[in-house]
Amino acid sequence: MNADMNSGEPQFERIALIGIGLIGSSLAHVIRRRGLARHIAIATRSRATLDRARELNLGDSYHEAATEAARDADLVILCTPVGVYGTIAQDVAPVLKPGAIVSDVGSVKGSVVKQVQPHMRDGVHLVPAHPVAGTEYSGPDAGFATLFVNRWCIVTPPEGAEPGAVDAVVGFWKSCGSNVEIMTAEHHDLVLAITSHIPHLIAYNIVGTAADLESVTESEVIKFSAGGFRDFTRIAASDPTMWRDVFLHNKDAVLETLGRFSEDLSMLQRAIRWGDGDALFDLFTRTRAIRRSIIDIGQETATPNFGRDGEIVTKVDEASK
Ligand code: NAP
Repeated sequence: MNADMNSGEPQFERIALIGIGLIGSSLAHVIRRRGLARHIAIATRSRATLDRARELNLGDSYHEAATEAARDADLVILCTPVGVYGTIAQDVAPVLKPGAIVSDVGSVKGSVVKQVQPHMRDGVHLVPAHPVAGTEYSGPDAGFATLFVNRWCIVTPPEGAEPGAVDAVVGFWKSCGSNVEIMTAEHHDLVLAITSHIPHLIAYNIVGTAADLESVTESEVIKFSAGGFRDFTRIAASDPTMWRDVFLHNKDAVLETLGRFSEDLSMLQRAIRWGDGDALFDLFTRTRAIRRSIIDIGQETATPNFGRDGEIVTKVDEASK
C-alpha cells in the first residue's frame, strides 16, 4: 500500500468490497475515478446483485464468495448491513494476507470491533470507518462517485491500532473527498445516536402513526404531505435491513438518547397543554439557529426546493396536466 497521496501511484494494489449496494458501489466509482487501487474485487450475497455490478462495470473481478474477493487484498472494506459483519469476518479471516487492513462503512462502530476483532490474526489490522453520507436509495445502481465529497468520515481505530494502517485508511477517505475525524467507537455511537439514529426512528414512527390513523385517510395523508410529513417519508424510505441492524447494534446509546428525547417531548406536550407560548417560541428560535449553522458550514444548502428537484417537478407538472 502507498499512503502518499501525491505520488500518482494507486494507494492499494487490490481493494475488496464485500457488499455492493449504495455505499459499496459509490466506493467502486470513486476508487476507479481517482485510481486508488489497481484492482477492485467485488463480492456480494446474491447472484443478481453481482451480475448487476458486472453490468455496471463497477469492478475488475466479481466473486460469489467473500473469501475469493478478500484473498490477496491489501484493503478489505465491509459494505453490508452490520448484522452480518461477524460471519463475514470469520469467513475471510483465514485468507487475509499479512499486513492486510480490514475496514468497513457501518453506521455503528462499537459493535464492529466486538464482531470483527476476535477473528483478526496478528499482523492483520482492523480500522473501522463510517462515512457520514448517504441517500435513501439502495443497491448497486444507487451509487455515485461524489457521494463522499465534503462529507465527514469518522475513523474509529481500536486501542493499539497500527499507526500505518490508520494513516492508510484516513488517506483513503481523504482521497474519496471526505473530511476525516478520528474518535473512539463509543463516542461515535453516542454522537450518531442523536444526529442520525434517533431522527430515523422518529421518521419511521411518524410515518407508521400516520399510516395507522383511523380518523384521517391514507389518501389525505399522501395528498397533504407537503405540510412537513413528506420530509419524514424520505428518511423513512431508508433500507429496512440496514436500519434494523443499526438499532439492534447501537442499542445502549439509542435507548439512552431516546430517554432524554422523551422527557423533552413531554415538556413540549405540557407547554402546548398549558398554552406556554414562550417555551415553544424559545425552542423554535434555538432550533432555527441550528439549521442556519448547518447551512453555514456547507453540510446543506439553503435552496428552498422542499425535496423537489427538476425531475420531480416535471413529473408533478405532467401529472397535473
Ligand atoms: P445496500 O444498498 O442495501 O447494500 C447492501 C449490500 O450488502 C448488498 O450488496 C447486499 O447484497 C449485501 N448484503 C446484504 N446482506 C448480506 C449478507 N447477509 N451477506 C453478504 N452480503 C449481504 O446498503 P448500503 O446503504 O450500501 O449500506 C451498507 C452499509 O453502509 C451498512 O452497514 C450501513 O450501515 C452503512 N452506511 C449506509 C449509509 C446509507 O445512507 N445507506 C450511510 C453510511 C453508512 P445482495 O444485494 O446481494 O443481497
